[in-house]
Parts: sequence; C-alpha cells; structure tokens
Amino acid sequence: MQGVNRRQWLTRTGATLLAAGSGTSLRAEPVAPEEPHGKMHLDLSDFQPRSMLHVPQTKVPRSRFPVIDVHTHLSWQASHRNGVALGEKMQFLATPEEALRVMDRKNIRIMVDLTGGVGKGFDATVQRFQTPHPERFLVFTEPWWERANEPDYGRFQADEIERAHRGGARGLKIVKTLGLYLRERITEGPLVKIDDPRFDPMWEACAALNMPVAMHVSDPEAFFLPIDRFNERFEELNNHPDWSFYGRDFPSNAELLDARNRVLARHPKTMFIALHLGNDAENLAYVSECMDRFPNMIVEPAARISELGRQPRAARKFFDQYQDRILFGTDAVPPPYGNQTPQQVFGEGLYEIYYRFLETEDEYFDYAPAPVPPQGRWRIYGLGLPETILRKVYYENAARLLGLKI
Ligand SMILES: [Zn+2]
Repeated sequence: MQGVNRRQWLTRTGATLLAAGSGTSLRAEPVAPEEPHGKMHLDLSDFQPRSMLHVPQTKVPRSRFPVIDVHTHLSWQASHRNGVALGEKMQFLATPEEALRVMDRKNIRIMVDLTGGVGKGFDATVQRFQTPHPERFLVFTEPWWERANEPDYGRFQADEIERAHRGGARGLKIVKTLGLYLRERITEGPLVKIDDPRFDPMWEACAALNMPVAMHVSDPEAFFLPIDRFNERFEELNNHPDWSFYGRDFPSNAELLDARNRVLARHPKTMFIALHLGNDAENLAYVSECMDRFPNMIVEPAARISELGRQPRAARKFFDQYQDRILFGTDAVPPPYGNQTPQQVFGEGLYEIYYRFLETEDEYFDYAPAPVPPQGRWRIYGLGLPETILRKVYYENAARLLGLKI
C-alpha cells in the first residue's frame, strides 16, 4: 500500500470487497493508476518537465561580433560503406542562398564546410559555395580513405592535398572514420590506427601548405560504455545504437586520444583543430593538459555546449586560459538531414543558443532546439564571456588561423 493510507485504501476498495464477499484477499486488488494518490507509470521518453525557475531568459538574436563558424557540413560524400566514404560524388545539403539567409540574420560572416569531399567532388563543392561567394564560404578537403590500403598511398595522398590546395582547399577534415571505421582492407580487417605512419606525408603536406587539419577523433565517453540504465546518454544511444563503440574490436576512448596525441607530437608544424573540444569536454582537466603539451592544438565547442554548459565554472576558466586557441563551431547540418540531431540542426534557433551560452549568464536553459535534451537530460548555464574573449572566439582566432582579413 505504498503512499496510500489504510483508511483511504479501504474506502476506495470497499465496493469491490462487498461485491466479492469477505473471502477476497486485500492483496488481490491493486491501486488503479488513475487514483489521485496512486503511483503512476510514465515512460522516460514521455517525460518533458518544464522548469519552474524564475530566472532571466535572454534572447540573443545576433552575435555581438561577426562569426566564423569553422565546423559546418553543407555537403558530404554521397556514398558510404561501414562508415567509410566512397567515390567522388557529393550530396549537397543546402544551396548557398539558403545558408546565406540564416547567416545574414545571425551575423555569420563565414561558414566553413568541412566535408568538401575528394577529387572532382571537392572541385564541385568549391564551385558551388566558395567560387561564387569567396567571402562567405570556405571549403576543406578530405583524405581518400578508400585508397588507404594502396602501396603508394602516402605519396598519392600528399599530392592530392596539394592538388586540392591549388583548387581552393583551406584545410583538411578528418572524420571519425580514422580510428573507428577504416580497416586494413578498407571496410574489413583490423582497424587502422590514427597514428599509422602511412598518413605522415599527409600531415606534413598540410603543414607545408598552411592548411589546418580539423580532426574528429573518438566520441563522448558514454559512447564507449554499455547502453544501460547507468549510461547518462541512454536515450541518445538508444535512438542511435550505431553510435555506440562499446565492445567488438573498438579501442577505448583513451587509446584513441593517445594515438591522436602521438600525431600532434610527431607533426608540431601542423595545426590541428581538435573538434568537439578535443572530444573530451567531459574532462576539461585532460583537455587542458593536452593544450599545454601541444601548442599546435586548437579546439572548438561544436555539439559540446551541452557538456561545457553543465560545468560553467570550469568551462569559463578554460575559455579564460585558452582564449587564443578556441574557435567558434557548431557542427551545423541543414534540415532535413540535421533533424536527427537537434543539437546540430542548421537554423536560427541553433545559433541563438550558442550566442546565449557564450554571451549571457542565463541559468538552466536548453542546449538544443528540441523538446527533450537530445544528448542527456540536463540543462546548461551561460558563460557570460567578456567582449575581448568573445571577439577572439567568434572570429579573430579563426581569421588568424585561416589567413583571413575581417
Ligand atoms: Zn562535424
């Protein structure tokens, strides 16, 4: 009789007891779910609590300074197998005009399309975005993963970086394919290590051409744990079980980050943008340690304001300390493709949340434009960065890295 006193219970069940006669066991009659004092059942997926806090709600429709968003996806390679991109054909996720409408309203001066593709596909991406609007869109190229098992790959890939650079590439993007999907026979066999020497000519070519490498290595720590009731990202992983890297032959998060660190150490002249806050925003002490060890490491907060904003005091210190090496990035993906991941869906709502997080001291607000927090059930707190840091993070640091005048 949890939560119901004996007299209420007897009153409510009285009719049943009379009808059934004196032989009825009290235990046979459960409390109905609709009873006002009964315990209801509610699926976690239906739970959408509304905060009763009376705290300031600041709307930030435009950023205080112009923005360079260094982490967006306006295109990607059209075909993939087992997490490895194949071929040169591209899929374009928006027209330049569609992107520019949001950019102009949100004070975004430049969008960097990281997944520009390879070969003829890369050329097509440049043609579509960067050539007609060289002041608004920049495109990065990518490695030819599908050729990584060919004997002359190192030389070939370095040459391709040079070719793409002549065609307008402003940097190189490494997706998490490296470390988590690419295998010795491309889609089969053992996983290729992030610090495999076959990529050394590629990292060096980027240094020689002043092309930063935007690198996605590993994923949130919770993605390497079982999808169970203790996993703080249970709902997200339950919605996207293919994002889990628990078990099978996957390396641990720590092994992946160690391998990345060996690449950073071996190529000190190459500038690495360790995307998603070095993919360990849960552990800012560790990210700080890496930043101190590797002067060629730069970070950006895309899809990790959920992590930063739930530890606002540590995050604020991090922004103070590394204010010259943090860029602005969102991982924006235009709808309808981005709808699967509301924390990334390109649109006005997404940018307003990032601006609110960086500029205000608002408390306990949603980190994504979605009815349920998609990366874990918590809310975030704004950092209230001063203007000098805002300016650096919004555009100065990126302009310096990419050799731009704003
Ligand atoms: Zn991304």
